[in-house]
Amino acid sequence: MSKKTATHQFQAEVNQVLDIVVNSLYKDKEIFIRELVSNASDALEKLRRTQITEKKIFDDHLELEINVTTDDEAGIITIQDFGLGMTAEELTENLGTIAHSGSKDFLEALKGDGEKNESLIGKFGVGFYSVFMVADNVKVYSRSWEPDAEGQHWESDGSGSYTIDPVDGQRRGAKVVVKLKDEHKDFAKADRVKEIIKKYSAFVQFPISVNGDKVNTVDALWLRSKNEIKDEEYEEFYKFQANDYEAPLLRLHFSTDAPLEINALLFVPKRNMEKLGMWRSEVKVALHCRKVLIDPEPKVLFPEWLRFLRGVVDSTDLPLNVSRETMQDSELLRKLNQVLTKRFLRFLAEQAKKEPEAYLEFWKEFGILIKEGAATDFTHKENLAKLLRFESSGLDSGTLTGLEEYASRMTGEQKEIIYLFGRNREAIEAGPYLEALTARNLEVIILTEPVDEYVMQTLGEFDGKKLVSGDSEDLKLEKLDDEPEGKRLNKKDTKSLCKWLKESLGDRVSDVEEGERLIDSPVCVVGGDAMGGPSARRMMKMMQGDDSNLPAPTVKLQINLRHPIIRGLSELRDTNADTASLVAHQLLDNALASADLLEDPREMISRSFQALEKLTAT
Ligand code: ADP
Repeated sequence: MSKKTATHQFQAEVNQVLDIVVNSLYKDKEIFIRELVSNASDALEKLRRTQITEKKIFDDHLELEINVTTDDEAGIITIQDFGLGMTAEELTENLGTIAHSGSKDFLEALKGDGEKNESLIGKFGVGFYSVFMVADNVKVYSRSWEPDAEGQHWESDGSGSYTIDPVDGQRRGAKVVVKLKDEHKDFAKADRVKEIIKKYSAFVQFPISVNGDKVNTVDALWLRSKNEIKDEEYEEFYKFQANDYEAPLLRLHFSTDAPLEINALLFVPKRNMEKLGMWRSEVKVALHCRKVLIDPEPKVLFPEWLRFLRGVVDSTDLPLNVSRETMQDSELLRKLNQVLTKRFLRFLAEQAKKEPEAYLEFWKEFGILIKEGAATDFTHKENLAKLLRFESSGLDSGTLTGLEEYASRMTGEQKEIIYLFGRNREAIEAGPYLEALTARNLEVIILTEPVDEYVMQTLGEFDGKKLVSGDSEDLKLEKLDDEPEGKRLNKKDTKSLCKWLKESLGDRVSDVEEGERLIDSPVCVVGGDAMGGPSARRMMKMMQGDDSNLPAPTVKLQINLRHPIIRGLSELRDTNADTASLVAHQLLDNALASADLLEDPREMISRSFQALEKLTAT
């Protein structure tokens, strides 16, 4: 080693990653080639961008290409690119720490669950360090594009430390020399390497050669005509671009000329990784201009709620020589965002009609993000609302319907789209509200996720029809043609019972009245859409995660004049006022619980014990 050689320790996190990667039993060790080739491709891409803004570039005459060479005998594979290269500082920063993306996400995702390691390595690739699955020793020779930089030699066996020292005579870019472990010498066989590159890196946008033979065809799939492309080609492209091992769920390949010239190839993955609860996805749709990559992950190309999308957008209208920072807030990007989002939503709507099964599969995975969009994105609200799917009282459990379909089933007199929220379908069916609506032949959308009600509230209406909760006072119900069976409490007793109930319940209710909507249940609560109303209150509870600091619900108690409990109560209050008051409070508690508005069941429990005590007293 020369005098200038400096030995450095890897950052602790790097050792952690190395440890997991090297010791895992991960089968596809060949992915280290994919990782090194993709680093080389990134470096070339970055150089191409640097060439646009910088005049002086070292070795500017070199072709933008990747050369792989193998030495079967010695068990060495070398991957060289003429990309932007690294200075000594950059080598330390990039290969000695994990300040960069891939490995950081990897560690993040690993937190707390060792069992996920195996599948996650496949998902993330984990970048450069994957080479230590197969290598005894790795040397990186690099020379930065900066005119006065020095050539560098980085070396490590992946066990805790690395060295860096300057070297002369380096070309621009990086050359990674991998000395393979004996048992992995296979990766120095040219045929094997060609096969691996064809499998994983067929779509790299720079020429790759193995021992001088070209192995990929550099073509931009998204610019080719749809009819010429086979399904397998799309699938391979997706796997390469999204770094996924599964085929995509949906694909949209389209081009437009107006208002912007766009060629786009968009994919929806099979799985929503966010559902695993590990991390938040980011939109990874690369932005190109005439095949040249402008930004691999532009933030504003799509709205947040489409963050599951993968693919490529190519627009000839983009200026090539803008910095990524100015791109972020360019008017053009916003326009692209509008056009692309609209087109993608139209595609989803078409899918829902043409291939409802595939759409439902999409809905199961990504419905939560469509709901997020419907509740937050005013611009696309109407198109998003059409994509929502829910269960409905008119359909079997498990069957989903859209609002358009629901509306088409509405009969003449029905003006509103009615929904009810509950913990599950059974709770809604057992509650006091559905019976009244069903008795009037009204179909009810069944909401079981707290976010659903929020979505309905923010949408407000669909296709000119108001969206109302079945427990809202705003929902006016017609009188039933056939009076349900049972004797009603007379007018006079009703009036005084309501008055007495209001007095007994005090501030807990705003009023007590006869309930038209009740059929079999003795009581229910209803409220307006104002802030204290049932629906708004549940929504606030959802947003803040619990019901502390919320105003008490403002509800009206409605009573069923034919119900034996109500008729009994009317008499009981004359004979035993104490017990009657207990019953009154208990009835209100039950009604609040049915509306999912009961905050603290403790009071109710102690009250119900008192009632039971009276009942069992001899
Ligand atoms: P990732 O590619 O996910 O950032 P890696 O571990 O593969 O993670 O690489 C770490 C960093 O090292 C890269 O982000 C890049 O800055 C740098 N790097 C790796 N390979 C090269 C290369 N061939 N040329 C220039 N820089 C490279």
